Amino acid sequence: MTTSDVLLDVQGVSKSFTGTAGDELRVLDRIDLQLREGEVVALLGRSGSGKSTLLRIIAGLIGPTAGTVRYRGAALNGANPGAALVFQSFALMPWLTVQDNVELGLAARNVAPAERSRRALAAIDMIGLDGFESAYPKELSGGMRQRVGFARALVLEPDLLLMDEPFSALDVLTAENLRTELVRLWAGDAFPSKAVCLVTHNIEEAVLLADRVLVLGANPGRIIAEIAIEQPRPRDKRAASFDALVDQIYGLLTGRDTEPVAPAPDTATPTARPLPDASPGGLAGLVELVYAAGRRADLPDIADELNFELDDLFPLVDAAELLGLATVEAGDVELTEIGARFTTADIQESKRIFAEQARHRAPLVRTICKGLAGSRDGSLKASFFLDLLRRGFSPADARRQLDLAIDWGRYAELYDYDKDNDQITADPAAEVYQAVRGAWTA
Ligand code: ADP
Ligand code: MG
Repeated sequence: MTTSDVLLDVQGVSKSFTGTAGDELRVLDRIDLQLREGEVVALLGRSGSGKSTLLRIIAGLIGPTAGTVRYRGAALNGANPGAALVFQSFALMPWLTVQDNVELGLAARNVAPAERSRRALAAIDMIGLDGFESAYPKELSGGMRQRVGFARALVLEPDLLLMDEPFSALDVLTAENLRTELVRLWAGDAFPSKAVCLVTHNIEEAVLLADRVLVLGANPGRIIAEIAIEQPRPRDKRAASFDALVDQIYGLLTGRDTEPVAPAPDTATPTARPLPDASPGGLAGLVELVYAAGRRADLPDIADELNFELDDLFPLVDAAELLGLATVEAGDVELTEIGARFTTADIQESKRIFAEQARHRAPLVRTICKGLAGSRDGSLKASFFLDLLRRGFSPADARRQLDLAIDWGRYAELYDYDKDNDQITADPAAEVYQAVRGAWTA
């Protein structure tokens, strides 16, 4: 491999955003990566690991805080001239036909109308939308809309095709069809792009499509592993070698080294250990399944059985681990004693266990309980906690964290939230409150 094969070179890229309180949110930390001619590279990571941010930096839509991005040796200064993007949300103009949507980018590049039309029709044909040139987006299924999304990018004949979770808004079968189609096009002569960079949170998708998988860890996003996938395409998902790769990457994503900085739940601050995006009901469901499987289960198996994507289970597993209901090692989840009691107890006892664990081990729930205990009448404005959270989270994430903590606290009968006056109030009816209050003030 010579350096001339390198189409895109990312060196030491970091990115920080400024929080509402003026403090720094570091999203990407010293990323190095290269895209070479002829390869498909997957950026794989959990939600919030900075994948979309990195892809937007590669596309030149936003600039890095530090580091450089070079396309064919030249440092980017604005939009990357060799790249086109496919978005998860399709992002089509509803008032334009398929053909006009596909031609948009060409018009922006001052291509003459006759040439625009010719190239758009060719792209539409290639992506399997022949006959739908004059349809409007609302007349198309999700899968067909995303085909328009692909055509709109490919018509620009970009060296680099960048895709941000392009299949994740589609149902399972449609996504599978479109992935197969992409593999077929990539192998063919007519495909205009020389390299593909695919952002995904779906391990199987990465192993199915990529020559190299770069695994991103979160907080801040950094590359924690690189895995070469040397099997020829099309790949067989049922092959043992495919499974082995999925398991290996799964282990990396759940491994301790993913979050070496995560402090222990019982001492962490709410911003250092965010609440996983899981409902108490979903958490209880997962714990029950693991219990039924003999208190120990292989997560990819559970996902398969439920027809879930593996990564849909991540937040539930994280929540179980945070609350001390389960431990996770190399893709296996095992219930603790407390986890087993949580699932076998009657509903009141089970809630009591949840409350105890959440109050000690879920940092934001603990912070809220302490705040309420220190208040004059067991009641505080939710915006008080929201302001605190905004120091470490983006506004949307801060709100999400508070909503989760309210959800957990309600289920645990620790406190309730009144939307009309924005007040969080310790639950006075629950006996838990008395006990808790004693413990808080002790
Ligand atoms: P992913 O695509 O892996 O889910 P993102 O790149 O979208 O991750 O976001 C990574 C983190 O950066 C998230 O915590 C998100 O809230 C934050 N973030 C992204 N864009 C902005 C922005 N414009 N301002 C503040 N925070 C942002
Ligand atoms: Mg994203």
